Amino acid sequence: MSGVNVDAPAYDVAIIGAGVVGCAIARQLARYELSVVVLERSSDVGNGTSKANTAILHTGFDCVPGSLESSLVKRGYELLGAYADEAGIAVERTGGLLVAWDEEQSEALPGLQEKASKNGYHQTRILSTEEVLNREVNLGQGVRGGLEVPGESIICPWSTVLAYAREAISVGVTFAFNTEVTGVVFNEDGQCLTTPLGNVRSSWLINAAGLFSGQVDGLCDHDDFKVTPRRGELIVFDKLSRGLISSIILPVPTSRTKGVLVAPTVYGNLLLGPTADDIDDPFATATTEQGIARLLDAGRKVLPRLLDEEVTALYAGLRAATDHQDYQIRSHPNQSYVCVGGIRSTGLTASMAIAEYVVALLVSDGLELIEGGPLPKVPNMSPLGEMQLRRYEDGDAIAVDAEYGSIICHCERVTRGEIRDACTGDLPARDIGALRRRTRAMNGRCQGFYCAAEVVSLLAELSAATPATLTGLTE
Ligand SMILES: Cc1cc2nc3c(=O)[nH]c(=O)nc-3n(C[C@H](O)[C@H](O)[C@H](O)COP(=O)(O)OP(=O)(O)OC[C@H]3O[C@@H](n4cnc5c(N)ncnc54)[C@H](O)[C@@H]3O)c2cc1C
Repeated sequence: MSGVNVDAPAYDVAIIGAGVVGCAIARQLARYELSVVVLERSSDVGNGTSKANTAILHTGFDCVPGSLESSLVKRGYELLGAYADEAGIAVERTGGLLVAWDEEQSEALPGLQEKASKNGYHQTRILSTEEVLNREVNLGQGVRGGLEVPGESIICPWSTVLAYAREAISVGVTFAFNTEVTGVVFNEDGQCLTTPLGNVRSSWLINAAGLFSGQVDGLCDHDDFKVTPRRGELIVFDKLSRGLISSIILPVPTSRTKGVLVAPTVYGNLLLGPTADDIDDPFATATTEQGIARLLDAGRKVLPRLLDEEVTALYAGLRAATDHQDYQIRSHPNQSYVCVGGIRSTGLTASMAIAEYVVALLVSDGLELIEGGPLPKVPNMSPLGEMQLRRYEDGDAIAVDAEYGSIICHCERVTRGEIRDACTGDLPARDIGALRRRTRAMNGRCQGFYCAAEVVSLLAELSAATPATLTGLTE
């Protein structure tokens, strides 16, 4: 029992990491009579890899058939698609079009179609060059046919994490921010976790630490996989480019990466990316000159007119790639510990299915699930998608609350009412990044040049008026 402080707060389940995976697991556990704590190193949910991805709700057509990832992506696609409709998370069913650019890629299309079928996705269709060009008139020279993947969709990744967390919070799940787990001691009652805010005891432990899942697994005396951050850089083009394509334009994937695609976002922009470079530093989320140059080269070929459009932003995210071709989800019943590692390039889509799978593992290891407490409330998320009725254009909402009629960020048309909601709700924004993910404020073409001063002062004023209640482990 060395290192165990018996006065430390105790929970039935502790989850390390408040990314999309940790929050989905918290939400799933919230429907049972369990005390659950989510320990997160940063100051907000979804502040790691989950905030910087390509935001595609994948059908899983190109997964490795028979893999755990394949089954969880397929199931997650259905679950998250339905949940998004329920919670008001923006989704657009754009469909995807995988384009072959030479004879070799064209010859690979039947194999990709067969692979899709093996992954349980039977709706693909091989298209001739003419059919591809009729659909997407702005594609560059050299198209050699394509594969239609009608189910591929785009989603708001930020609202997804927030919705999971808010639903968990609605029935009392504790989120402890700025709380990095630096040590784990196992004892006969479960675990004692060391954090800068003091120790936490739990009966069951889930490692959903993303890029650090291998490191946390090491703290639990395992050495089953090594995470190598795989950096993906992306370019966000201005909204005027949105009309250049109607669906997600995919390349023929390789064994390492899905490749560089051009995808619409639910906010009305176009994305070009991501790259795929293995690096050492799990904090290296800056974009690079070389990466952006490679993207522009790829973009020039796929959609030449895109390069005439203005760039709104650049960003990079890091995939938790490992030395394995599949997710690294393992339970260790003798430690009451489940590792949910190596959730690489599909974790947003698979998140709800991963949560289901992890809870089933916990049950088979002996966790008793008791129903009967208050049911978690599916939150009604602020409409961030361009295809949704945004607050500034919602006459009924404005009639009830005039602050929805007062626009502060003009590029993204974010209202004073939305900023107020984001700073004062059940999971309040406490910094600009968190506010951007909740509202889109400052994400537009001026990147806050015109509205930053007002947004920052509102954030400061509202934060001071609403003390944060979600950081204490001892409450
Ligand atoms: C470029 C790119 C494009 C992608 N595109 C897509 C896509 O289109 N569709 C899709 O479905 N998926 C996509 N993904 C994958 C998806 O984003 C990830 O699989 C998913 O976000 C992983 O979530 P996570 O919760 O495992 O990790 P994270 O979001 O990184 O969360 C882990 C959390 O753990 C915390 N943490 C780490 N160590 C500790 C510790 N010791 N103590 C406390 N907290 C700790 C971190 O701070 C972090 O917040 C993409 C990824 C990238 C990088």
